[in-house]
Amino acid sequence: MVEPIPQPSGVTQEVATGTLPAWAQVEELVREAHQRYRDHDEGAVADYIPILAETDPRLFGLAVIDRTGGVHDAGDARHPFSVQSISKLFVCALVIEELGHDLVRDRIGVNNTGLAFNSVMAIELNDGHPMNPMVNAGAIATTALMPGETSAEKWEHIRDGLSAFAGRTLRMDGQVYRSEARTNERNKALARLLSSYGRLDEDPLEVVDIYTRQCAITVTAHDLAVMGATLASGGINPVTGDRVVSPEVCRDTLATVASSGLYERSGEWLFEIGLPAKSGVAGGIVAVAPGKGAVGAFSPPLDRAGNSIRSQLAIGHLSRSLGLNLFASAPDS
Ligand code: GLU
Repeated sequence: MVEPIPQPSGVTQEVATGTLPAWAQVEELVREAHQRYRDHDEGAVADYIPILAETDPRLFGLAVIDRTGGVHDAGDARHPFSVQSISKLFVCALVIEELGHDLVRDRIGVNNTGLAFNSVMAIELNDGHPMNPMVNAGAIATTALMPGETSAEKWEHIRDGLSAFAGRTLRMDGQVYRSEARTNERNKALARLLSSYGRLDEDPLEVVDIYTRQCAITVTAHDLAVMGATLASGGINPVTGDRVVSPEVCRDTLATVASSGLYERSGEWLFEIGLPAKSGVAGGIVAVAPGKGAVGAFSPPLDRAGNSIRSQLAIGHLSRSLGLNLFASAPDS
């Protein structure tokens, strides 16, 4: 195992500061970003999950929620789609909340694989280690750690947990679930491989079934923004006012996703956009600005790594115009 990074003791951790511009200005910038990329048509809709191939590539929604619960929706911000891999981010938070920082770092890992989201090689090259909760192998291993005596209980915890992040009851799309369940041989193979390395305590096929259900939960770009804003606000949902997870869990989850949320393009994403973010193959992306708020975006055509192209462009635009990049600083003037 890799040695843990040494931590200073007895030093208080400060939180991210700064605020978004005034409500009317954010509203205008969200509209501007939507309008600017509305007609952009690069990329291809995912088709390895058959039902996703039927999605209308013209759909494009954008939403920003600030940490006080202020809402900015543009275009198809309330159009439903399956959360897919973005569920990994929130299941990771729920598991860290239950089991703690160290267990997730040691059992799952927090380093990027540099390989595709469904890579078998990544497991083989790392002695069966799942590597991080944002790639399929690590996500399957993370789902297995959800509390619950039975698969049904684990699934309920996931659905209820994601609903708490969204501030409304989320439901699974049965058609999406069945379409993926019929074709997810690769995820089953990943789970069996993890199991052969002793990295999965539960039945691999049952865990893949729960994971497939979590990916088929229906959300909107607006929901993603509320869910992300909960992570931006120290774990309090800014719309409902309910605590969902602790501030420490938000910090750990955002650090994890920063290194691997856009798969093998995560480094480039941080370099260009400077925000922790997670994408899903149905076309969603959520990006979180700690202490400020979150952006949810949805547009089905993807790049070759599986990330929505228009969502990346719109979030990049907002990161600049709203001043969200975590790495940007200026001297006192
Ligand atoms: N359900 C999809 C899979 O396991 C999620 C992948 C993604 O959104 O990137 O392949």
